[in-house]
Amino acid sequence: MEFLPIFLDLKQRPCVVVGGGDIAFRKIKLLLRAGAKVTVIAPEVCQGLNALKDEVTCKVKNFEPSDLQGCDLVIAATNDRTVNSQISAAARERGMPVNVVDQPDLCSFIVPSIIDRSPVVVAVSSSGSSPVLARLLRARLETMIPSSYGRLAELVRGFRDQVRDKLKVSRDIRIFWEKILQGPVAEMMFAGQEDAAKAALQQAINTGDTLVDKSGEVYLVGAGPGDPDLLTFRALRLLQQADVVVYDRLVSKEILDLVRKDAEFLYVGKQRDDHALPQNEINEVLVRFAKQGKRVLRLKGGDPFIFGRGGEEIEELAAAGVPFQIVPGITAASGTASYAGIPLTHRDYAQSLVFVTGHLKDGSQNLNWTVLAQPHQTVVVYMGLVGVKNFCKQLLAHGAPKDRPMALVQKATTRDQKVIVGTVETIPDLVEKADIKPPTLIIIGDVVNLQDKLAWFDPRDNT
Ligand code: SAH
Repeated sequence: MEFLPIFLDLKQRPCVVVGGGDIAFRKIKLLLRAGAKVTVIAPEVCQGLNALKDEVTCKVKNFEPSDLQGCDLVIAATNDRTVNSQISAAARERGMPVNVVDQPDLCSFIVPSIIDRSPVVVAVSSSGSSPVLARLLRARLETMIPSSYGRLAELVRGFRDQVRDKLKVSRDIRIFWEKILQGPVAEMMFAGQEDAAKAALQQAINTGDTLVDKSGEVYLVGAGPGDPDLLTFRALRLLQQADVVVYDRLVSKEILDLVRKDAEFLYVGKQRDDHALPQNEINEVLVRFAKQGKRVLRLKGGDPFIFGRGGEEIEELAAAGVPFQIVPGITAASGTASYAGIPLTHRDYAQSLVFVTGHLKDGSQNLNWTVLAQPHQTVVVYMGLVGVKNFCKQLLAHGAPKDRPMALVQKATTRDQKVIVGTVETIPDLVEKADIKPPTLIIIGDVVNLQDKLAWFDPRDNT
């Protein structure tokens, strides 16, 4: 190991930064975050630094070794190698930790890339060999560590003494916290249910039962339109900790590949005419698994609350007293719009946006056609492929012009994305000839004309 990672307490400690540019500015901000008393030494300072003048002491001058008198740590951020060497030598002479930006040979310590979930802090370093690599690794870790980790640590801090006094034996204390930090209490914190988490932790301390709530939980998670990169951080985390996954046809294989390997998978259909399980049975399954104490991931395409029957499933859970959390996903309209290059609103063309289903529960298309035929709006049709002919006919019959632009997009955001652009008059024929596969989304309105200019996603690039 080339460097020993340590965490310094710099609260109220005098530190010096030499240099007045952007890099110095960033280092100063970092020291201020750690509570240091910062003195800046530079013949001139950048604008950003000027804005910090109330928080730092600024000495507008050239560096002299005596500037280091009485300080705990120095960072050199000048672009003059001779000055940097002088600073390094002066600091080392005084036994003071020194960092010289981008010159590892002059450093006695290096500044890592940081993931800050204070009080939890993760530091990543490549020992100066590749700061970019360290930053990339940091970005990966950022996605894996929930933003509420800091609050979780604070929660533990508040209960540590109580747990120690109650359990006494250090092994028991460790096991207790391991269970708490991987169980429902932590999950409640991540879901923002802080009061419930506190109550559950208190209950666990009182009863010694760390599982607290044995009834399990359901995560209703939106998986987005297909591209796994469009999952949310929280969705990914829950995918990796579920015991059972209940999913339907719209969830892509790439996303299922991200689920914890030893989870149980249950396919419940949901393609047109392929209802492997009727809705009421899906609801029952969720309740049953949760009551067995399992963490049930109900994975849905797009967003669970947009034509996803998420509401119906949650109602059932609520009635059965099963705890649940809901994670939004990118709905097909957003995914399709972005990946096909069709903005859904535009100040010149569409001032309102309507999402409709082209397929009602009883199979009909009983929509307000007069409203949908109006100009200056964008109409997005989910589940519209089978009824597309009738949809266009109705729009025309209710006053939409024949040349109103219309697009039908197959399997948006995936390698099989196909975009067909036409008009309300031409789309039914174009679609018939094009051998289209579901799922497809329809977008109607003048915004479709922008597709020509704004399309950027080439599915073939992904093969
Ligand atoms: N809850 C989902 C919608 C479920 S309804 C969401 O928020 O996206 C199913 C319909 O969604 C499909 O018939 C289709 O119209 C649309 N859809 C879902 N994924 C799609 C995709 N990748 N490309 C195009 N349409 C999609």
